[in-house]
Amino acid sequence: MPTSLEALNRRVAQDLEYLNIPSKNWVPQHAVDGQTLLDVAIIGGGMAGLAAAASLKNLGVRTVIYDARAKGYEGPWATTARMETLRSPKILTGPAIGIPSLTFRAWFTAQFGVAEWEKLDKIPRLQWMDYLRWYREVLNIDIRNDHRITLITPHDDYVELDLETPAGTQKVLARHVVLATGRDGLGGPYVPEIISKLPREYWAHSSHIYDYSKLKGKAIAVIGAGASAMDSAGTALEAGAARVDVLIRRKDIPRINRGKGMGNPGSVYGMQTLDDHWKLAIYSYISAEQVPPPHASVLRVSRHKNAFFQLGSPLESVTLKGEKVEITTPKGSRTFDFIIPSTGFQIDWRQKPFLSQIAPKARIWAERLAPLKGDEDRALIEAPDLGAAFEFLPKHGIEDNGLTRIHCFCYPAMMSHGGVSGDIPAISEGAARLSQAIVAKLYQEDIKEHFANAKAFDEPEVFGDEWTVAHNYDQAADEEIA
Ligand SMILES: Cc1cc2nc3c(=O)[nH]c(=O)nc-3n(C[C@H](O)[C@H](O)[C@H](O)COP(=O)(O)OP(=O)(O)OC[C@H]3O[C@@H](n4cnc5c(N)ncnc54)[C@H](O)[C@@H]3O)c2cc1C
Repeated sequence: MPTSLEALNRRVAQDLEYLNIPSKNWVPQHAVDGQTLLDVAIIGGGMAGLAAAASLKNLGVRTVIYDARAKGYEGPWATTARMETLRSPKILTGPAIGIPSLTFRAWFTAQFGVAEWEKLDKIPRLQWMDYLRWYREVLNIDIRNDHRITLITPHDDYVELDLETPAGTQKVLARHVVLATGRDGLGGPYVPEIISKLPREYWAHSSHIYDYSKLKGKAIAVIGAGASAMDSAGTALEAGAARVDVLIRRKDIPRINRGKGMGNPGSVYGMQTLDDHWKLAIYSYISAEQVPPPHASVLRVSRHKNAFFQLGSPLESVTLKGEKVEITTPKGSRTFDFIIPSTGFQIDWRQKPFLSQIAPKARIWAERLAPLKGDEDRALIEAPDLGAAFEFLPKHGIEDNGLTRIHCFCYPAMMSHGGVSGDIPAISEGAARLSQAIVAKLYQEDIKEHFANAKAFDEPEVFGDEWTVAHNYDQAADEEIA
C-alpha cells in the first residue's frame, strides 16, 4: 500500500499502464476555415468535468476543459460551500472511474495512514477540494482555468465557443461540447420573488459568495430546512450573528433521504431505461419528500442558544422597515438585518446567457409529456429531454443544426439519465456512459474515413517467409515425409 503521495502517484501510473490507458488518439482531426477542431471541449472543471475528461482521454479522445474559476477553485467546495464535511459517506468512490488508486480513500491513506482513515467520519470539505486538485494533476488533465465561456453556437459539423480569457476573447471550435456546469448548470439559485424584490444589500442566497463576518452582531433570517440552510445558519452563528432564525415552511424537518434509499446499481443503470411514467413518479416523490439536512449540520446550528428553528413558518410578507426587514409568518412578525434564502436551485436558462442559442431549441420534458395535467413538478418538467449521449434534442419542428453535438452532463440531466451527472455516488458511471456514447458518435461520423483507413492499412502480421508451399498432395508421396 502506498505510504506517500509520491508512491501513490507511481501506483496510479502503474495502474494506467496495466490497463493500457489512455488509448492513443485515434479520432481523425477536422478543420474549419483552417482552424483545427478539438474533439471534445468540456465546460466546467468540477468533479463531473474531471471524470468526463479522464474517461474521454482514456478512450483516446482529445479533450480540453475550460473553467471560469482560478486553478484549484473549481466547483463549490472552496468558495460557496459552507459545510464542515461532505454530506456523502467517505467510502464512495466518486470520480475514480473504476481505478482503485484514484479513490479518495487511496489518496487519504497514502498520506495519513489506515488508522486515520478508520477514525475519519466524513470527508472535510476542503480536503475533498485538495483531492480533486490532486486528481487533475495525477491524470494530467488539460484544464484552462480563468476561461469563461460566454456563448455556445452550434453548427452542423461543429460547435463554436466564445471565451473570455486572461489573454482576451477567443474562439474555440469543437466537434462535441460537454456542459459540466454544475448543480445550477442550466439556471441558478432559486430566490422567492418576495425576497428578490428587496434591495440587494438585504439578502444573499446560500450559494452566493458572501463574507459572513459582516453578519457579526446582526439578526439573521435563514429561509429553508435543507443542508445549505443549516450550513448558512451555522456559519452565521460562528461568525457572531446576534440571533439566527431558521424559517421553515413545513411543520417538521424532513427525516428520511428517499433518494439515498433508492441508491443501488439497479437505479444507476436502470433509471434511464424506465418509461416516462416511472421516472416522473419517482422524481416527483423524492422532490416532494425533500432531502433532510445532515444530522451534524443540524447540531452545528442547534448547539447555539441564539439559534431558533421556526417550524410551520412560510413567508407571508417581507417588507423593508427603515434599515431592517420585517418578515411575517403565521407565527407573527419579526425584524431582521439580513436574509439568507437557502432555497436551492432552479432550471432557468435566462440566468445563463451563454446558453442563449441552445435554450430556444432544446426539447424539455414538458414537451415530451404534453399534454400536461397541470399538477406536474415544475422543476422536473423543465428538465431537458436528452438522448442516450446526454445530448440535447431539438424541439418538435426545429432542425438539429448541431444541437445534438452539445451534451448536458450536469444535474438537470437527472430526469433523462438518473442521478449520474452531478452527485458523488455515481459520477464515474455517468462519465463512462457519456464518454462511450460520444466516442461512438465520433466513430460513426468518420466511418468513411475509418473504412478507407482500414483498406489502406498495410501493416503485415505475417511476411510470407514463414512457410513453404507444398507440392505433393497424393497419398503415394507420403513416404517422402516419413
Ligand atoms: C454546497 C454543496 C454541497 C454539496 N455536497 C455534496 C455532497 O456532500 N455529496 C454529493 O454527492 N454531492 C454534493 N453536492 C452536489 C454535487 O456533488 C456538487 O454540486 C458537485 O460540485 C457537482 O460537480 P459538478 O462538476 O457537476 O459541478 P461543479 O463542481 O459546480 O463545477 C462546475 C464548474 O463549471 C464551471 N462553469 C460554469 N459555467 C461556466 C462557464 N460559462 N464557463 C466556464 N466555466 C463554467 C464553474 O466555474 C465550476 O467550476 C453539493 C453541492 C453543493 C452546492
